[in-house]
Amino acid sequence: MKILSVNAGSSSLKFTLIDMPAQVTIASGLFEKIGISDSFYTIKYNGEKIRKEVALPDHAAAVKELMRELIDLKIISSFAEIEGVGHRLVHGGPDFTETVILNDEVIAKLEENIDLAPLHNPGSITGMKAFMSVLPNVVQTVVFDTAFHSTMEKTEYLYPVPYEWYEKYKVRKYGFHGTSHRFINKTISEYLKRDDLKIISCHIGNGGSVTAIDSGRVVDTSMGFTPLAGIMMGTRSGDIDASILEYVSKKTGESLSELTNDLNKKSGLLGISGISSDSRDVEAAAKEGNERAILAQKMYASKIANYIAMYNNLLGGADVICLTAGVGENSSHMREMIIERIASLGVKIDPAKNDFRGEFRLITASDSTIPVYVVPTNEELMIAIDTMELALKNK
Ligand code: ADP
Repeated sequence: MKILSVNAGSSSLKFTLIDMPAQVTIASGLFEKIGISDSFYTIKYNGEKIRKEVALPDHAAAVKELMRELIDLKIISSFAEIEGVGHRLVHGGPDFTETVILNDEVIAKLEENIDLAPLHNPGSITGMKAFMSVLPNVVQTVVFDTAFHSTMEKTEYLYPVPYEWYEKYKVRKYGFHGTSHRFINKTISEYLKRDDLKIISCHIGNGGSVTAIDSGRVVDTSMGFTPLAGIMMGTRSGDIDASILEYVSKKTGESLSELTNDLNKKSGLLGISGISSDSRDVEAAAKEGNERAILAQKMYASKIANYIAMYNNLLGGADVICLTAGVGENSSHMREMIIERIASLGVKIDPAKNDFRGEFRLITASDSTIPVYVVPTNEELMIAIDTMELALKNK
């Protein structure tokens, strides 16, 4: 069966068409600048790539264009071939603890909680509505980035702040990248043939989060009420002292929302290096001796290592550490820098085993106390697996 895995943003729509259960990607693509001028899309299939510029006034126009192209390019012969559409949603709020079938009731609930994720959710919901109108008879699901983290206990998900903030305004840790961490948990558990593993999963891409998992249940995760918290990222600060905001605001006259934007968009690797949010650029500058790039890399590695050490303690000793996403899968240098900083746990890299990119591999020495694996993530596939399962149940 063919399943569409969809990730819609405020002005973009990414899709992957996957043949299930074979797990083969048939086509993928991206619609950009929806609702803005100069909109265009790219579609990859059969080793070819097409790019077209076309007016896309709204998400429904993009969905119609996508379906037309799938037919025109002979990727499918009729709409009926699509047996499920899975939508990624960044924030499910406190109510959604697993993937659900999309319907009007779900949309209403998501709209009720929209102020929890004002930057991310509106675009995704617009995308969902567009697919519901173009493919009304196809099973559609919503896969939440927060859902996997819903097993956290209050001791982990509450902030030590006035309790009414939680009761009245739903202020708590939600955690994100859940679909990726769940994929990592599934992959490594299947590989090691154990369902009782204590796993520290490190998703290190442009965004980044570390998650402690015990027997398939999340115990704690580094992102928080929003994706701003936790480790240092490409452009996000990660954890900082909240009082900095008031202090800087008095100095610069910037508003709270301007400063929050600085923490989300101008901090992290970009803020410290002053060069780029892209770890490849920072790595290249560091190699040439740029001091701020070297500093940015050291800080980046330390924050991740510190979370690993903290979660090793929380789990009572991890069985395995997994590194994933753009940096974790591709940067052997950053992997080495992180592992050097958890040497006190007895973790030891094998440099020869670590010299590669983009594959599933063990990178630690045989006498390392905890094995470290690079596990390429695949959120689109996880969404397709969930959607296939729900579509089969609803047949
Ligand atoms: P996103 O969070 O946007 O999905 P990705 O998981 O794609 O991000 O990760 C993007 C990051 O991965 C960027 O910082 C990029 O520099 C980094 N990356 C990709 N390839 C490499 C590489 N070969 N070496 C170092 N870093 C890489």
